[in-house]
Amino acid sequence: MEKKKKDKVESDIMTHDQNPYEIVKDLLKESVSRLGLHENIYHLLKKPTRVFEVSIPVRMDDGRIENFTGYRSQHLDILGPTKGGIRFHPAVNLDEVKALSVWMSLKSAIIDLPLGGGKGGVIVDPEKLSERELEVLSRNYIKSITPIIGPQKDIPAPDVNTNPKVMGWMIDEFDQLRGYNIPGMLTGKPVVLGGSLGRLEATGRGVVFTIREACKVLGIDLGEATAAIQGFGNVGSMTAKFLHELGVKIVAVTDAKGGIYKEDGLDIPDLLAFTNKGENYASNYEKAEPINNEEMFALPVDILIPAAVENQITKETAPNIKAKILAEAANGPTTPDGDEILEEKGIFVIPDILCNAGGVTVSYFEWVQNNMNYYWKVDEINQQLEEKMLAGFEKVIKMREEKDCRMRDAAYMVGISHLVKAMDARGWIGEQEKL
Ligand code: NAD
Repeated sequence: MEKKKKDKVESDIMTHDQNPYEIVKDLLKESVSRLGLHENIYHLLKKPTRVFEVSIPVRMDDGRIENFTGYRSQHLDILGPTKGGIRFHPAVNLDEVKALSVWMSLKSAIIDLPLGGGKGGVIVDPEKLSERELEVLSRNYIKSITPIIGPQKDIPAPDVNTNPKVMGWMIDEFDQLRGYNIPGMLTGKPVVLGGSLGRLEATGRGVVFTIREACKVLGIDLGEATAAIQGFGNVGSMTAKFLHELGVKIVAVTDAKGGIYKEDGLDIPDLLAFTNKGENYASNYEKAEPINNEEMFALPVDILIPAAVENQITKETAPNIKAKILAEAANGPTTPDGDEILEEKGIFVIPDILCNAGGVTVSYFEWVQNNMNYYWKVDEINQQLEEKMLAGFEKVIKMREEKDCRMRDAAYMVGISHLVKAMDARGWIGEQEKL
């Protein structure tokens, strides 16, 4: 009871500027107006079509039953089945899940994927669970959302604190419930269960494609460039790997436990080998100095990459940022007041809904392969990912020039324009709402 009260107070003090759903609604409204569209389009876009809240009882190792809360939001399925990751995090809340599902719709629209936006989450700190408790939670969550998911309805994937292992438990549970093997019901699976080659690396690889293109726009030589990354999970570590391969000097990486800094560049392959052994680099890696998140944001680097959670670039952190490019590998890392400061400083922002769209792109390829039951070579997947990311980047740059606006507004407008075409084709809108 005491804990419930505390959670309630915490969610009540989330300001408008920190609530990702309020932020995304404001951005949708602004972009609809900038496109000269009727505000009815905003009303069609602002709410997820379907939101599901579930309780997930888990018998803990000490015999107690803990009842976790989970969500699944399906924003819009006019382009295809909804699709999006599942997050396990103590800060998960309904508004965050709704916002993440809107962003998924926009990403698919920008990249021109036949998918809608979905997202799921469970309020839990997975670090406090044993492996058995985590497995039961994963299985029971997927069981609880079974009525609304499936390869033609809504297709989950990994997000913060979920990974191929968790996806393996979830697909096993779903297959057992349905009584047959349905590999296309989720993506980001282990390869042996129908996962796609290249999916684990896809988001980071896509982030790096967009950074490479941004460097071309700004005339930055990647071989001379420096970078710092917040978050060294799936997305952050893969971004580091591919940037390093392009010759970028990565001077700092941080995460929830701290961070490390090396002025003449971290040895990324060595660091990856260290973390792959399950080591905590923030406290145990001896070949670099400690650094915290705040200090990392203020480093004089060319490229800054938030690859962790929302609301990191704020009115407190943005004034100290010296980077030329902010590549939003995470979803929603920048608050509106942080954004204003970035604009005043002339920092080139690669917005999240473009920057990290490589994940859903290869998830789409995985789903296609599952549906065909025929699997592609990794080179083919990476090449198609590159084509899709470049086409998305081009469209956003073109819109930015046409409308003389920020990259974020341009990305929203590209996504919304595509969704409006689908609404029109379905007869959802009349003359007054059209472009
Ligand atoms: P992950 O769980 O693998 O890694 C998350 C990282 O963020 C960890 O290093 C963690 O320590 C760090 N972190 C968490 N809270 C933090 C905090 N308060 N301060 C600093 N660091 C913190 O998750 P991921 O899959 O790498 O996802 C990272 C981001 O990328 C999320 O915003 C996610 O929505 C987004 N994203 C992920 C994918 C994907 O394919 N996994 C695709 C698109 C977007």
